[in-house]
Parts: sequence; C-alpha cells; structure tokens
Amino acid sequence: MHRTHTCGELRAANIGQTVTLAGWVQRTRKMGGMSFIDLRDRYGITQIVTDEASSKELNDQVAKLGREYVIKVTGEVCERQSKNPKIPTGDIEIKMTGITILNEAQTPPFTIEDESDGGEELRSKYRYLDLRRAPLKRALELRHRMAHEVRNYLDEQGFLEIETPYLIKSTPEGARDFVVPSRMNPGQFYALPQSPQTFKQLLMVAGYDRYFQIVRCFRDEDLRADRQPEFTQIDCEMSFVEQEDVLNVFEGMMRTLFKKVLNVDIPNPMPRMSWYDAMDFYGSDKPDIRFGMKINDLTSDLKGHGFSVFDSVEYVGGIVVEGASEYTRKQLDELTEWVKRPQVGAKGLVYVKVNTDGTIKSSIDKFYSPEELKAVADKCGAKVGDLMLILCGAKRKAQTMLGVLRVEMGNRLGLRDPHTFAPLWVVDFPLLEWDDETNRFYAMHHPFTAPKPEHMDLFYSNKKEDLERVCANAYDFVLNGTELGGGSIRIHNADVQERMFEVLGISKEDADYKFGFIINAFKFGAPPHGGLAFGFDRVCALFGGQETIRDYIAFPKNNQGRDVMLDSPSKIDDVQMDELFLKSTYVEK
Ligand code: ASP
Repeated sequence: MHRTHTCGELRAANIGQTVTLAGWVQRTRKMGGMSFIDLRDRYGITQIVTDEASSKELNDQVAKLGREYVIKVTGEVCERQSKNPKIPTGDIEIKMTGITILNEAQTPPFTIEDESDGGEELRSKYRYLDLRRAPLKRALELRHRMAHEVRNYLDEQGFLEIETPYLIKSTPEGARDFVVPSRMNPGQFYALPQSPQTFKQLLMVAGYDRYFQIVRCFRDEDLRADRQPEFTQIDCEMSFVEQEDVLNVFEGMMRTLFKKVLNVDIPNPMPRMSWYDAMDFYGSDKPDIRFGMKINDLTSDLKGHGFSVFDSVEYVGGIVVEGASEYTRKQLDELTEWVKRPQVGAKGLVYVKVNTDGTIKSSIDKFYSPEELKAVADKCGAKVGDLMLILCGAKRKAQTMLGVLRVEMGNRLGLRDPHTFAPLWVVDFPLLEWDDETNRFYAMHHPFTAPKPEHMDLFYSNKKEDLERVCANAYDFVLNGTELGGGSIRIHNADVQERMFEVLGISKEDADYKFGFIINAFKFGAPPHGGLAFGFDRVCALFGGQETIRDYIAFPKNNQGRDVMLDSPSKIDDVQMDELFLKSTYVEK
C-alpha cells in the first residue's frame, strides 16, 4: 500500500500513530539542522519533518527533492511546535522515518499555489498542473457535488436519466453546428447536438414522461463572452404538464441545490417577472435584481421641449444612481465615453444632478427649466445627492443600453456581491423576434416553443404586428444578471409545428428535410409536454462565486476554441482526408 492516510486527514487525535503518506512536494525548507517538506495531495497538505541529528541520510534525501516530486513518506504523527491554524492539519507534523521517491518531476513552469504566477495561456498548456492547485480542485469538487445533488433530486422526483446520441442531424438552437464527416456515408455529415432538444421531445412521444440528462452540447459560436464550444446542460423534459408544473419542479431543484450545497435559502416562491417588465425596468431579459436602480420611462416628460436629440427619438429613459451627485465633470466625461463604446452603442449621455444643496445641475439646462428637471427627478425618486443618467433612442435599444449602464453603475457602486443570490423566473417571452437585416422572424427561444393558447389566432394571422404580439409559455431562470436556464411548453401538434416553420420562413421541403422526423412523430400521439435546460457550467461557477466557467471545466478551450494543451484543432493527414472524401480549400497565409 502506498499510503495509510491522505495529506488532508491527520489531526491531533492521530498523534503517536505511524503513518505512510504519498503525494507531491509542494516545497521543502531547511532551517538549521531541520528539513521540512510540505506534502500535498487532493485532500490537503501535511508537514513532514526530519532533523540531521536523528538521520543524516533522510536529511540528505530531502535536499534532493524538487518541487512536484512524487514521494512516499513514513513516520510518526507528532504535535507541531509552531502550529499553523490556516490548514486543517496544522496541529501536527510527521516525523519522517523513511522516504521513497516514486517519481521525479521537472520544475513546473509556474508555481502551484492558490495564486499562481503563471499566465492563462501557460496554465492552459499545462492544465494537468494547473488542476493541482487548490482553487481548481475546489471548483471541480463543487461541480461533482452539484451533479450529485441534481441526480438525487431528479431521481426522487421520478425522472429517468437517458442518454441521447452525439452524432446526429442539425438541431434548432440557432447557433452554427459542428459537423463530423461520415466515412461510411461518403459526402455526408453528422452534426453534433446543440442540445438534445428533438430527442427529449421524441422521448415524450415515446412515453418517458420525466426525462433528464447531464449532457454535453456543442455550438460553433464566437466565444467572446465566457462561452465554451462544448458545454454541459442539465437537460429536462416532462409530459402532461403546464408551465406552472415545470417551474415548480425546477424551482425545487434550485432551492435544493442552494440549501444543500451553499446552505442558502432562496425566496419561496421565487419572484417572477414578465419579459416586458424585465425589458422596461431593467433593460435586460436577465435582470440583476440584487439592486434597484430601475429604468424610468421619461419619454413623455422630456420629448417636445425643443431639445432635438430627444424630440427625434422614440424613447427617452433614465436611471437614478444614488449618492452620485458628486460625480465630477471628468468622471461624467469618462462615463459618456464609456456609453459610446461599441459594446454599449449610445450616441451620448445626459445627466441631471440633484446637488446636496438642493439645486439641479444638468447637461440639458438650456432646454429645460429647473422646475421641469425637478419634476423629472421627483418622478424617478431621485433625492438630494443623487445623479440621474439619461439615454435615448429606439425603445428596446435604448432600454438595453440603459440596462448595460445600470449594471456598470451597480459594479462601480459595489452593489453586485457575488455571494448574494437573487434568482427569479422571467416569463411570458414573445414567441418571435423580427430581424430587420434578414427581414424575417426568428424564434425567440427555438422553433418547438408553443404559442400561448390564447394567442393562437394571432399566430395564424399574416400581419407582422400580430405575430410580434404572440407570447409563449417560455421561461428563463435568471440569477444575478445571468441566464442560467430556460425552456418552454412545446408544440405537440404537427399542424401547429408546420405553421411555426412557415412563420419562420422555412420552406416545407426544408422543414421536412431537417425536422420531418419530429413532425411525423407528432402524428403518432404526442402528449402535451414542456421542459427546460440549465447551463450546468455556469450554475457551478455562480455557486462558486465566480464569473467565469473555465475553472469549473476540467479541460476547457480558450476563446479561439482551441485546446492549447492538445494543440487542437489540428490538421489530419492526407490518408484520413481521402478516406473521408475531403479536400481543404483553406489557403494558409
Ligand atoms: N434546448 C433548449 C436550450 O438548449 C432548452 C429547452 O428548451 O429545453 O436552450
């Protein structure tokens, strides 16, 4: 046996025992005649000690050790002279009687400490070394625990975990597919699933009325915003349910996770907000409700006063930043530049300050009397010492910009503590979204989402304004300004599904070619059904109080979609290309 205990296990109660530990050398130190080793494994660090007086040979052995050597040490558990309250094993140390070097190690290219000196790229290249660091270990432990609790909860609720294939046909989530050439079917390609959407619906047709899967999904998207080309969903579907049933089951799942993993109680019931309110008051379909600073519609107050910027737009809106009237000219200029960045897209920023002496100061003084501005401030609840920030434009666009500004001000004011959790359901999404560029409707969620029954007439109308008003029983689970999950009640009728494809401008032939199998299945007795999926990586990251999902994935890709450790994607050899009947047209620059 290589070890009797782990490096995180021994305590004062073990004093006097003879033990064998194995692990990696975190560091060695020499102090006078004494030598120390910090020995590390997955479970923690234990101090090993030897002194020249009792064994010169052992001491010499320690001198030979380098960082990350794998060793096995035998010795007696002793009380430590200078205790280290920072680590659980800090009361004891092992007085070494024997040591074996199990394997040597090259000097690692970065320090394996909580705060490493290695840059992102270097650590990715040596991911297996990075994974030795405690913060990553904690992240993967958290992920394991979460998956375990999800399985327990859903099992208790009667869900079956069923795997679905990865080599499939194009799926409907709206991103680009990753494709895989088929050697046995020359010239033909599989697509990797963007989600198991169609399969889980087919499982409902098959009668498996509660399905779930913790499953990998693949989307070939630009990866700027902390996304991964392959990521994991907790994917679920239920039959004979209405929206309320789905929300209850999954609110329960999240409540259980919060309680069991973080010992946090989330509000019961969880707040719900319509998509329209989310947009109007938070400028986002994933509102961060940890703080207020809601958007106020000031269109009727500020339009028509001769200020051409406001007079020429559809919408004017503002937020109140509490206690920020002291913002200097320089700070306001900087903020104006900030909203003009392409990521926000505003043309300019108007401010109204309610000074601490009660006077009003604004960048639009010329066009509005102090009384008019005071009335606006009062309407928005701006008090003495507050600052109002105002943007304008087309309604949803301006609201979205205000939403981005609101979050930024929330950050600047320290209102977004990652350890405060404010979940909610956003409900009543529009079914369709018009795109001016391509001049057609897109499904806001995906094309299998059902229109609300009371909106069926609108759904069959051929007028754009009618179709824009159709709502769906679609819902998103939002936490701290991040969408963690979403789903909908589905279409379960072949005619309605065909109408949906028609509304989306997908020809009958195309719909048949891509989704004929599911339209067909609906003709064989499809039950009413609905479901949702959670982005598991992101749920883990938020539970861990982190914004990035990379730490919660053992082997993530970088934001060019590369695995820098494997150096993949990479070319394949000509034989392989020929077997697949492939020829690359890419010309290297
Ligand atoms: N398949 C959907 C998604 O990946 C989730 C769902 O509608 O259940 O977003």
